[in-house]
Amino acid sequence: MSLTVYNTLHRKKEEFVPLHPNHVGMYVCGPTVYGDGHLGHARPAITFDLLYRYLQHLGYKVRYVRNITDVGHLENDADAGEDKIAKKARLEELEPMEVVQYYLNRYHKAMEALNVLPPSIEPHASGHIIEQINYVQKILDAGYAYISNGSVYFDIEKYSKDHHYGTLSGRNVDDLLNTTRELDGQSEKKNSFDFALWKKASPEHIMRWPSPWSDGFPGWHLECSAMGQKYLGEKFDIHGGGMDLLFPHHECEIAQSVAAQGHECVQYWMHNNMITINGQKMGKSLGNFITLDEFFTGSNSNLEKAYSPMTIRFFILMAHYRSTVDFSNEALQAAEKGLSRLMEAYSNIDKMKVSEKSSVDIAALKAKMYEAMDDDLNSPIVLSHLFEAASIINRVIAGNDTIDQANIELLRETMNLFMFDILGLKQADAAQGGNNDETYGKVVDLLLEMRKTAKENKDWGTADLIRNKLTELGFELKDTKEGCDWKLS
Ligand code: ZN
Repeated sequence: MSLTVYNTLHRKKEEFVPLHPNHVGMYVCGPTVYGDGHLGHARPAITFDLLYRYLQHLGYKVRYVRNITDVGHLENDADAGEDKIAKKARLEELEPMEVVQYYLNRYHKAMEALNVLPPSIEPHASGHIIEQINYVQKILDAGYAYISNGSVYFDIEKYSKDHHYGTLSGRNVDDLLNTTRELDGQSEKKNSFDFALWKKASPEHIMRWPSPWSDGFPGWHLECSAMGQKYLGEKFDIHGGGMDLLFPHHECEIAQSVAAQGHECVQYWMHNNMITINGQKMGKSLGNFITLDEFFTGSNSNLEKAYSPMTIRFFILMAHYRSTVDFSNEALQAAEKGLSRLMEAYSNIDKMKVSEKSSVDIAALKAKMYEAMDDDLNSPIVLSHLFEAASIINRVIAGNDTIDQANIELLRETMNLFMFDILGLKQADAAQGGNNDETYGKVVDLLLEMRKTAKENKDWGTADLIRNKLTELGFELKDTKEGCDWKLS
Protein backbone atom coordinates (compact mmCIF):
# COMPACT_ATOMS: atom_id res chain seq x y z
CA MET A 1 0.00 0.00 0.00
CA SER A 2 1.56 3.29 -1.03
CA LEU A 3 0.39 6.74 -1.91
CA THR A 4 0.17 7.70 -5.58
CA VAL A 5 -0.33 11.32 -6.65
CA TYR A 6 -0.87 12.95 -10.01
CA ASN A 7 2.21 14.98 -10.89
CA THR A 8 1.17 17.80 -13.21
CA LEU A 9 4.78 18.21 -14.34
CA HIS A 10 4.88 14.71 -15.83
CA ARG A 11 1.15 14.54 -16.55
CA LYS A 12 0.77 11.18 -14.83
CA LYS A 13 0.20 9.48 -11.50
CA GLU A 14 3.40 8.65 -9.65
CA GLU A 15 4.23 6.86 -6.44
CA PHE A 16 4.92 9.42 -3.74
CA VAL A 17 8.50 9.02 -2.52
CA PRO A 18 9.62 11.92 -0.31
CA LEU A 19 13.15 13.30 -0.54
CA HIS A 20 13.72 12.49 3.14
CA PRO A 21 12.32 9.27 4.61
CA ASN A 22 10.07 10.77 7.28
CA HIS A 23 9.74 14.43 6.40
CA VAL A 24 7.64 16.09 3.73
CA GLY A 25 8.00 19.69 2.58
CA MET A 26 4.86 21.09 1.02
CA TYR A 27 4.22 24.57 -0.39
CA VAL A 28 0.79 25.79 -1.46
CA CYS A 29 0.06 29.18 -3.01
CA GLY A 30 -2.17 30.99 -0.58
CA PRO A 31 -4.64 33.80 -1.06
CA THR A 32 -4.16 37.42 -2.05
CA VAL A 33 -5.77 39.18 0.88
CA TYR A 34 -7.67 42.08 -0.64
CA GLY A 35 -11.22 40.75 -0.39
CA ASP A 36 -13.36 38.15 1.36
CA GLY A 37 -12.72 34.48 0.69
CA HIS A 38 -15.08 32.88 -1.81
CA LEU A 39 -15.93 29.35 -2.88
CA GLY A 40 -12.90 29.32 -5.18
CA HIS A 41 -10.63 29.81 -2.15
CA ALA A 42 -12.24 26.92 -0.30
CA ARG A 43 -11.22 24.34 -2.89
CA PRO A 44 -7.40 24.53 -2.79
CA ALA A 45 -7.57 25.02 1.00
CA ILE A 46 -9.63 21.83 1.45
CA THR A 47 -7.75 19.85 -1.22
CA PHE A 48 -4.36 20.46 0.35
CA ASP A 49 -5.78 20.11 3.86
CA LEU A 50 -6.84 16.60 2.82
CA LEU A 51 -3.30 15.90 1.59
CA TYR A 52 -1.77 17.45 4.73
CA ARG A 53 -3.98 15.36 7.01
CA TYR A 54 -3.35 12.15 5.07
CA LEU A 55 0.43 12.59 4.93
CA GLN A 56 0.45 13.12 8.69
CA HIS A 57 -1.74 10.06 9.17
CA LEU A 58 0.78 8.04 7.13
CA GLY A 59 3.38 9.05 9.71
CA TYR A 60 5.21 11.87 7.91
CA LYS A 61 6.28 14.99 9.70
CA VAL A 62 5.01 17.63 7.30
CA ARG A 63 6.21 21.21 7.03
CA TYR A 64 3.31 22.90 5.28
CA VAL A 65 4.00 26.42 3.99
CA ARG A 66 1.08 28.46 2.66
CA ASN A 67 1.98 32.02 1.74
CA ILE A 68 0.03 35.24 2.00
CA THR A 69 0.29 37.44 -1.09
CA ASP A 70 0.19 40.96 0.27
CA VAL A 71 2.32 42.80 -2.27
CA GLY A 72 2.96 42.86 -5.98
CA HIS A 73 -0.28 41.27 -7.10
CA LEU A 74 -1.25 43.82 -9.69
CA GLU A 75 -4.67 44.49 -11.18
CA ASN A 76 -3.47 43.24 -14.51
CA ASP A 77 -1.51 40.00 -14.79
CA ALA A 78 0.74 41.50 -17.45
CA ASP A 79 2.72 43.23 -14.69
CA ALA A 80 0.73 46.43 -15.05
CA GLY A 81 -1.83 48.40 -13.11
CA GLU A 82 -2.04 49.25 -9.45
CA ASP A 83 -1.27 46.91 -6.56
CA LYS A 84 -4.64 45.48 -5.49
CA ILE A 85 -4.02 45.95 -1.77
CA ALA A 86 -2.53 49.41 -2.16
CA LYS A 87 -5.55 50.46 -4.21
CA LYS A 88 -7.96 49.29 -1.53
CA ALA A 89 -5.87 51.07 1.13
CA ARG A 90 -5.92 54.30 -0.87
CA LEU A 91 -9.67 54.15 -1.49
CA GLU A 92 -10.47 53.40 2.16
CA GLU A 93 -7.74 55.61 3.67
CA LEU A 94 -6.08 52.74 5.47
CA GLU A 95 -2.53 51.50 5.89
CA PRO A 96 -2.00 48.68 3.36
CA MET A 97 -1.19 46.37 6.30
CA GLU A 98 -4.55 47.23 7.86
CA VAL A 99 -6.23 45.97 4.71
CA VAL A 100 -4.08 42.83 4.78
CA GLN A 101 -4.77 42.12 8.46
CA TYR A 102 -8.50 42.73 8.15
CA TYR A 103 -8.93 40.25 5.31
CA LEU A 104 -6.42 37.81 6.76
CA ASN A 105 -8.38 37.60 10.02
CA ARG A 106 -11.54 36.94 8.06
CA TYR A 107 -9.80 34.35 5.91
CA HIS A 108 -8.55 32.52 9.01
CA LYS A 109 -12.04 32.52 10.49
CA ALA A 110 -13.52 31.03 7.33
CA MET A 111 -10.75 28.40 7.17
CA GLU A 112 -11.36 27.44 10.79
CA ALA A 113 -15.08 27.10 10.10
CA LEU A 114 -14.23 24.78 7.19
CA ASN A 115 -12.02 22.79 9.59
CA VAL A 116 -8.94 23.51 7.45
CA LEU A 117 -5.86 23.00 9.63
CA PRO A 118 -3.53 26.00 9.83
CA PRO A 119 -0.26 25.54 7.91
CA SER A 120 3.08 25.16 9.73
CA ILE A 121 4.31 28.50 8.37
CA GLU A 122 2.29 31.30 6.79
CA PRO A 123 4.88 33.73 5.42
CA HIS A 124 3.93 37.12 4.01
CA ALA A 125 5.50 38.33 0.77
CA SER A 126 5.98 41.77 2.34
CA GLY A 127 8.04 40.19 5.14
CA HIS A 128 10.51 38.62 2.69
CA ILE A 129 11.67 41.52 0.54
CA ILE A 130 15.38 40.91 1.28
CA GLU A 131 15.11 37.26 0.27
CA GLN A 132 13.38 38.32 -2.94
CA ILE A 133 16.01 40.94 -3.76
CA ASN A 134 18.73 38.31 -3.27
CA TYR A 135 16.84 35.95 -5.53
CA VAL A 136 16.61 38.58 -8.29
CA GLN A 137 20.35 39.17 -7.96
CA LYS A 138 21.05 35.46 -8.46
CA ILE A 139 18.97 35.42 -11.65
CA LEU A 140 20.76 38.57 -12.88
CA ASP A 141 24.15 37.00 -12.09
CA ALA A 142 23.17 33.90 -14.04
CA GLY A 143 22.37 36.11 -17.03
CA TYR A 144 18.66 35.35 -17.31
CA ALA A 145 17.34 38.78 -16.39
CA TYR A 146 17.90 42.36 -17.52
CA ILE A 147 17.48 45.79 -15.98
CA SER A 148 15.32 48.31 -17.75
CA ASN A 149 14.41 51.73 -16.33
CA GLY A 150 14.96 50.56 -12.74
CA SER A 151 12.84 47.46 -13.20
CA VAL A 152 14.20 43.92 -13.61
CA TYR A 153 12.64 41.49 -16.07
CA PHE A 154 13.09 37.79 -16.62
CA ASP A 155 14.51 37.17 -20.11
CA ILE A 156 12.41 34.29 -21.42
CA GLU A 157 14.03 34.23 -24.86
CA LYS A 158 17.52 33.93 -23.36
CA TYR A 159 16.37 31.35 -20.81
CA SER A 160 14.70 29.20 -23.43
CA LYS A 161 17.98 28.91 -25.35
CA ASP A 162 19.47 26.96 -22.43
CA HIS A 163 16.41 25.51 -20.75
CA HIS A 164 12.91 24.41 -21.54
CA TYR A 165 10.39 27.15 -20.78
CA GLY A 166 6.90 25.66 -20.70
CA THR A 167 7.62 22.30 -19.04
CA LEU A 168 4.62 22.56 -16.75
CA SER A 169 2.00 24.13 -18.98
CA GLY A 170 3.18 22.58 -22.23
CA ARG A 171 3.29 26.04 -23.85
CA ASN A 172 5.70 26.44 -26.67
CA VAL A 173 8.01 29.41 -26.38
CA ASP A 174 8.40 29.71 -30.17
CA ASP A 175 4.67 30.32 -30.46
CA LEU A 176 4.89 32.95 -27.73
CA LEU A 177 7.78 34.62 -29.56
CA ASN A 178 6.00 34.62 -32.91
CA THR A 179 2.68 35.87 -31.69
CA THR A 180 3.75 38.58 -29.31
CA ARG A 181 6.98 40.08 -30.66
CA GLU A 182 5.45 42.90 -32.72
CA LEU A 183 3.00 44.02 -30.09
CA ASP A 184 3.96 46.46 -27.43
CA GLY A 185 6.64 48.55 -29.14
CA GLN A 186 6.64 51.04 -26.27
CA SER A 187 7.35 48.53 -23.55
CA GLU A 188 10.52 48.62 -21.51
CA LYS A 189 10.58 44.83 -21.87
CA LYS A 190 12.47 43.00 -24.62
CA ASN A 191 9.50 40.74 -25.19
CA SER A 192 6.00 41.42 -23.99
CA PHE A 193 5.80 38.03 -22.26
CA ASP A 194 8.91 38.68 -20.15
CA PHE A 195 7.73 38.98 -16.56
CA ALA A 196 8.80 41.40 -13.86
CA LEU A 197 11.10 40.26 -11.07
CA TRP A 198 11.32 43.78 -9.65
CA LYS A 199 9.18 46.78 -10.55
CA LYS A 200 10.22 50.37 -10.11
CA ALA A 201 7.45 52.10 -8.16
CA SER A 202 5.70 55.10 -9.64
CA PRO A 203 5.63 58.16 -7.29
CA GLU A 204 2.06 57.45 -6.08
CA HIS A 205 2.79 53.78 -5.35
CA ILE A 206 2.75 53.42 -1.54
CA MET A 207 4.08 49.88 -1.06
CA ARG A 208 7.77 50.30 -1.93
CA TRP A 209 11.17 49.16 -0.75
CA PRO A 210 14.74 50.21 -1.62
CA SER A 211 16.73 47.86 -3.85
CA PRO A 212 19.94 48.03 -5.93
CA TRP A 213 17.80 48.85 -9.00
CA SER A 214 15.15 51.27 -7.75
CA ASP A 215 12.66 51.98 -4.99
CA GLY A 216 10.05 49.45 -5.92
CA PHE A 217 8.46 46.11 -5.18
CA PRO A 218 8.91 42.46 -6.19
CA GLY A 219 6.95 40.75 -8.97
CA TRP A 220 4.25 38.36 -7.85
CA HIS A 221 5.86 35.10 -9.10
CA LEU A 222 9.00 35.76 -7.11
CA GLU A 223 7.63 35.45 -3.58
CA CYS A 224 6.81 31.74 -3.89
CA SER A 225 10.26 30.88 -5.27
CA ALA A 226 11.99 32.89 -2.55
CA MET A 227 9.87 31.74 0.40
CA GLY A 228 9.65 28.14 -0.78
CA GLN A 229 13.43 27.97 -0.90
CA LYS A 230 13.84 29.75 2.44
CA TYR A 231 11.56 27.43 4.41
CA LEU A 232 11.74 24.16 2.47
CA GLY A 233 15.19 24.20 0.90
CA GLU A 234 16.54 24.12 -2.65
CA LYS A 235 14.62 20.93 -3.30
CA PHE A 236 11.32 20.02 -1.72
CA ASP A 237 8.53 17.52 -2.21
CA ILE A 238 5.21 19.09 -3.10
CA HIS A 239 4.06 22.38 -4.61
CA GLY A 240 0.34 22.83 -4.91
CA GLY A 241 -2.27 25.33 -5.98
CA GLY A 242 -5.29 25.83 -8.19
CA MET A 243 -5.09 25.04 -11.90
CA ASP A 244 -5.58 28.73 -12.63
CA LEU A 245 -2.06 29.27 -11.21
CA LEU A 246 -0.39 26.75 -13.49
CA PHE A 247 0.31 29.39 -16.13
CA PRO A 248 1.90 31.82 -15.84
CA HIS A 249 2.51 31.74 -12.06
CA HIS A 250 3.93 28.24 -11.57
CA GLU A 251 5.61 28.15 -14.97
CA CYS A 252 7.43 31.35 -13.98
CA GLU A 253 8.35 29.90 -10.59
CA ILE A 254 10.03 26.95 -12.33
CA ALA A 255 11.91 29.27 -14.68
CA GLN A 256 13.06 31.39 -11.72
CA SER A 257 14.38 28.47 -9.71
CA VAL A 258 16.12 26.87 -12.68
CA ALA A 259 17.67 30.26 -13.53
CA ALA A 260 18.80 30.97 -9.94
CA GLN A 261 19.81 27.48 -8.81
CA GLY A 262 20.40 25.58 -12.01
CA HIS A 263 17.68 23.05 -11.23
CA GLU A 264 13.97 22.65 -10.56
CA CYS A 265 13.15 22.59 -6.85
CA VAL A 266 9.81 20.75 -6.80
CA GLN A 267 9.38 16.95 -7.00
CA TYR A 268 5.57 16.83 -7.33
CA TRP A 269 3.43 19.62 -8.76
CA MET A 270 -0.21 19.17 -7.78
CA HIS A 271 -3.17 21.24 -8.99
CA ASN A 272 -6.80 21.26 -8.01
CA ASN A 273 -9.47 21.95 -10.61
CA MET A 274 -11.84 24.92 -10.51
CA ILE A 275 -15.38 25.54 -9.28
CA THR A 276 -18.04 26.83 -11.65
CA ILE A 277 -21.42 28.26 -10.67
CA ASN A 278 -24.34 26.86 -12.65
CA GLY A 279 -21.87 25.99 -15.40
CA GLN A 280 -20.31 29.47 -15.52
CA LYS A 281 -16.98 30.73 -14.35
CA MET A 282 -17.28 32.61 -11.07
CA GLY A 283 -16.63 36.33 -11.29
CA LYS A 284 -17.68 39.65 -9.84
CA SER A 285 -18.67 40.96 -13.28
CA LEU A 286 -20.86 37.90 -13.93
CA GLY A 287 -22.94 38.60 -10.84
CA ASN A 288 -22.46 35.06 -9.53
CA PHE A 289 -19.73 35.78 -7.03
CA ILE A 290 -20.52 34.24 -3.62
CA THR A 291 -18.28 34.73 -0.59
CA LEU A 292 -17.86 32.03 2.05
CA ASP A 293 -19.58 34.20 4.66
CA GLU A 294 -22.57 34.54 2.35
CA PHE A 295 -22.74 30.76 2.05
CA PHE A 296 -22.68 30.41 5.83
CA THR A 297 -25.44 33.02 6.34
CA GLY A 298 -27.43 32.57 3.13
CA SER A 299 -27.22 36.29 2.36
CA ASN A 300 -26.78 36.17 -1.42
CA SER A 301 -29.54 36.13 -4.02
CA ASN A 302 -27.95 33.11 -5.72
CA LEU A 303 -28.53 31.06 -2.57
CA GLU A 304 -31.83 29.46 -1.62
CA LYS A 305 -30.69 29.12 2.00
CA ALA A 306 -27.66 29.12 4.29
CA TYR A 307 -25.23 26.21 4.05
CA SER A 308 -23.06 25.15 6.95
CA PRO A 309 -19.27 25.14 6.53
CA MET A 310 -19.33 21.34 6.82
CA THR A 311 -21.84 21.13 3.96
CA ILE A 312 -19.41 23.18 1.83
CA ARG A 313 -16.51 20.92 2.85
CA PHE A 314 -18.52 17.78 2.14
CA PHE A 315 -19.65 19.20 -1.23
CA ILE A 316 -16.03 19.82 -2.26
CA LEU A 317 -14.91 16.36 -1.09
CA MET A 318 -17.71 14.74 -3.10
CA ALA A 319 -15.67 15.45 -6.24
CA HIS A 320 -12.13 14.31 -6.94
CA TYR A 321 -9.83 17.34 -6.66
CA ARG A 322 -8.82 17.11 -10.34
CA SER A 323 -12.43 17.17 -11.56
CA THR A 324 -14.39 20.35 -12.06
CA VAL A 325 -17.11 21.06 -9.55
CA ASP A 326 -20.28 22.87 -10.46
CA PHE A 327 -22.07 24.68 -7.69
CA SER A 328 -25.85 24.75 -7.63
CA ASN A 329 -28.36 24.90 -4.80
CA GLU A 330 -29.50 21.37 -5.67
CA ALA A 331 -25.94 20.03 -5.47
CA LEU A 332 -25.35 21.68 -2.10
CA GLN A 333 -28.64 20.39 -0.75
CA ALA A 334 -27.71 16.90 -1.89
CA ALA A 335 -24.40 17.31 -0.05
CA GLU A 336 -26.25 18.45 3.06
CA LYS A 337 -28.47 15.36 2.99
CA GLY A 338 -25.51 13.06 2.40
CA LEU A 339 -23.58 14.55 5.27
CA SER A 340 -26.45 14.24 7.72
CA ARG A 341 -27.10 10.65 6.59
CA LEU A 342 -23.48 9.76 7.40
CA MET A 343 -23.50 11.58 10.73
CA GLU A 344 -26.79 10.01 11.75
CA ALA A 345 -25.55 6.51 10.94
CA TYR A 346 -22.39 7.21 12.93
CA SER A 347 -24.43 8.27 15.96
CA ASN A 348 -26.44 5.03 15.68
CA ILE A 349 -23.44 2.69 16.01
CA ASP A 350 -24.37 1.90 19.60
CA LYS A 351 -27.90 0.95 18.57
CA MET A 352 -26.58 -2.08 16.68
CA LYS A 353 -27.28 -5.41 18.35
CA VAL A 354 -24.15 -7.45 19.02
CA SER A 355 -24.26 -10.91 17.47
CA GLU A 356 -22.04 -13.94 17.85
CA LYS A 357 -21.35 -13.96 14.15
CA SER A 358 -20.77 -11.16 11.71
CA SER A 359 -22.27 -11.13 8.21
CA VAL A 360 -20.25 -8.00 7.37
CA ASP A 361 -16.51 -7.58 6.84
CA ILE A 362 -15.35 -4.18 8.09
CA ALA A 363 -11.62 -4.88 7.60
CA ALA A 364 -12.20 -5.25 3.86
CA LEU A 365 -14.17 -2.00 3.79
CA LYS A 366 -11.39 -0.17 5.65
CA ALA A 367 -8.80 -1.51 3.20
CA LYS A 368 -10.88 -0.13 0.32
CA MET A 369 -10.92 3.34 1.94
CA TYR A 370 -7.13 3.30 2.18
CA GLU A 371 -6.92 2.13 -1.40
CA ALA A 372 -9.04 5.09 -2.53
CA MET A 373 -6.98 7.62 -0.54
CA ASP A 374 -3.77 6.12 -1.91
CA ASP A 375 -5.14 6.51 -5.42
CA ASP A 376 -4.41 10.24 -5.73
CA LEU A 377 -6.69 11.20 -2.81
CA ASN A 378 -9.89 9.83 -4.29
CA SER A 379 -12.25 11.35 -1.73
CA PRO A 380 -15.52 10.56 -3.59
CA ILE A 381 -14.65 6.85 -3.49
CA VAL A 382 -13.77 7.10 0.22
CA LEU A 383 -17.19 8.71 0.76
CA SER A 384 -18.93 5.94 -1.18
CA HIS A 385 -17.32 3.40 1.18
CA LEU A 386 -18.39 5.49 4.17
CA PHE A 387 -21.94 5.39 2.81
CA GLU A 388 -21.56 1.62 2.62
CA ALA A 389 -20.59 1.69 6.32
CA ALA A 390 -23.73 3.76 7.02
CA SER A 391 -25.85 1.20 5.14
CA ILE A 392 -24.31 -1.61 7.19
CA ILE A 393 -25.32 0.19 10.41
CA ASN A 394 -28.87 0.66 9.13
CA ARG A 395 -29.11 -2.95 7.92
CA VAL A 396 -27.88 -4.35 11.25
CA ILE A 397 -30.37 -2.18 13.16
CA ALA A 398 -33.16 -3.36 10.83
CA GLY A 399 -32.12 -6.97 11.47
CA ASN A 400 -31.00 -7.59 7.90
CA ASP A 401 -27.34 -8.09 8.77
CA THR A 402 -25.42 -9.23 11.85
CA ILE A 403 -22.24 -7.84 13.40
CA ASP A 404 -19.98 -9.05 16.21
CA GLN A 405 -18.29 -6.92 18.87
CA ALA A 406 -14.89 -6.82 17.14
CA ASN A 407 -16.45 -5.56 13.89
CA ILE A 408 -18.48 -2.93 15.77
CA GLU A 409 -15.27 -1.55 17.28
CA LEU A 410 -13.49 -1.66 13.94
CA LEU A 411 -16.43 0.10 12.27
CA ARG A 412 -16.39 2.87 14.88
CA GLU A 413 -12.62 3.28 14.57
CA THR A 414 -12.72 3.28 10.74
CA MET A 415 -15.50 5.85 10.52
CA ASN A 416 -13.75 8.02 13.11
CA LEU A 417 -10.49 7.87 11.22
CA PHE A 418 -11.79 8.55 7.71
CA MET A 419 -14.69 10.92 8.43
CA PHE A 420 -13.07 13.07 11.09
CA ASP A 421 -9.27 12.72 10.98
CA ILE A 422 -8.68 12.33 7.24
CA LEU A 423 -11.66 13.94 5.47
CA GLY A 424 -11.77 16.52 8.27
CA LEU A 425 -15.53 16.54 8.73
CA LYS A 426 -16.84 17.82 12.05
CA GLN A 427 -19.72 16.28 13.89
CA ALA A 428 -20.93 19.34 15.76
CA ASP A 429 -21.80 21.11 12.55
CA ALA A 430 -23.93 18.30 11.22
CA ALA A 431 -26.91 19.83 12.96
CA GLN A 432 -26.29 23.26 11.50
CA GLY A 433 -27.73 24.70 8.34
CA GLY A 434 -31.06 23.16 7.53
CA ASN A 435 -31.40 20.82 10.50
CA ASN A 436 -30.78 23.49 13.08
CA ASP A 437 -34.42 24.25 13.90
CA GLU A 438 -35.26 20.59 13.87
CA THR A 439 -32.58 19.74 16.44
CA TYR A 440 -33.60 22.71 18.55
CA GLY A 441 -37.20 21.53 18.59
CA LYS A 442 -36.17 18.04 19.59
CA VAL A 443 -34.26 19.43 22.58
CA VAL A 444 -37.31 21.39 23.78
CA ASP A 445 -39.49 18.30 23.33
CA LEU A 446 -36.97 16.32 25.36
CA LEU A 447 -37.12 18.86 28.24
CA LEU A 448 -40.94 18.77 28.20
CA GLU A 449 -40.83 14.98 28.23
CA MET A 450 -38.64 15.18 31.35
CA ARG A 451 -41.09 17.63 32.91
CA LYS A 452 -43.96 15.23 32.24
CA THR A 453 -42.05 12.39 33.89
CA ALA A 454 -41.24 14.64 36.84
CA LYS A 455 -44.96 15.49 37.26
CA GLU A 456 -45.90 11.81 37.08
CA ASN A 457 -43.38 11.18 39.86
CA LYS A 458 -44.82 14.09 41.81
CA ASP A 459 -41.41 15.77 41.61
CA TRP A 460 -42.98 19.25 41.46
CA GLY A 461 -39.67 21.04 42.06
CA THR A 462 -38.09 19.68 38.87
CA ALA A 463 -41.29 20.18 36.84
CA ASP A 464 -41.51 23.83 37.90
CA LEU A 465 -37.80 24.41 37.34
CA ILE A 466 -38.08 23.24 33.70
CA ARG A 467 -41.22 25.34 33.12
CA ASN A 468 -39.70 28.47 34.72
CA LYS A 469 -36.37 28.20 32.90
CA LEU A 470 -38.05 27.67 29.52
CA THR A 471 -40.36 30.63 30.17
CA GLU A 472 -37.34 32.73 31.10
CA LEU A 473 -35.78 31.80 27.74
CA GLY A 474 -38.89 33.10 26.01
CA PHE A 475 -40.92 29.94 25.45
CA GLU A 476 -44.68 30.02 25.83
CA LEU A 477 -45.92 26.72 27.25
CA LYS A 478 -49.52 25.56 27.20
CA ASP A 479 -50.53 22.35 28.96
CA THR A 480 -53.03 20.27 27.00
CA LYS A 481 -54.67 16.89 27.48
CA GLU A 482 -52.02 15.23 25.26
CA GLY A 483 -49.05 16.92 26.92
CA CYS A 484 -47.66 20.38 26.43
CA ASP A 485 -47.61 22.70 23.39
CA TRP A 486 -44.86 25.23 23.09
CA LYS A 487 -43.89 28.12 20.93
CA LEU A 488 -41.16 30.72 20.99
CA SER A 489 -42.70 34.10 21.76
ZN1 ZN B 1 2.60 31.02 -5.63
